Amino acid sequence: MQMDREHLFKEMDELFPKVVKPKGISMSFHKIGCIHCEELRKDLAHVNGAFPEEELRTIYDELSCLSSEGLLWVMPAYLKYIIGTEASLESDEVEIEFFIYNFSPELKYQKETISRLGSLSKSQLSFISKVFEWLSSFTYWREWHGEDLERAKVFLNNIDA
Ligand SMILES: [Zn+2]
Repeated sequence: MQMDREHLFKEMDELFPKVVKPKGISMSFHKIGCIHCEELRKDLAHVNGAFPEEELRTIYDELSCLSSEGLLWVMPAYLKYIIGTEASLESDEVEIEFFIYNFSPELKYQKETISRLGSLSKSQLSFISKVFEWLSSFTYWREWHGEDLERAKVFLNNIDA
């Protein structure tokens, strides 16, 4: 069963409205003393307004440095990219791969991940889980990342938001 892409888009627009860029240290998970989070803030310093899709290349491997406010800022562009990129869905695509990793932490990182996702509502978390369900319907993602996708779904559905 393939979920309807149009339907996912509509739901995404409702659940993840474009938000203003978080100011200063509110962008990153660690506020002081973390060189990675500082690097991320620097990398994004030149971006103003809504998060642009071109910047996914900058942040896809630094998702764990975003605060939940920062994550909510990048989500509209990120989800649009994943749901909208037809060509990528049967082949490896690092942005999608790292997105899955970000939501499928090993047990020892689950607590930290939950605190990073602090500002996301239950319906936002369920929607991300639904996107993973949808990705699982593509042979490539099911075959190469089936286990991560399963772990992500279980993880997201069990967070008490
Ligand atoms: Zn950090």
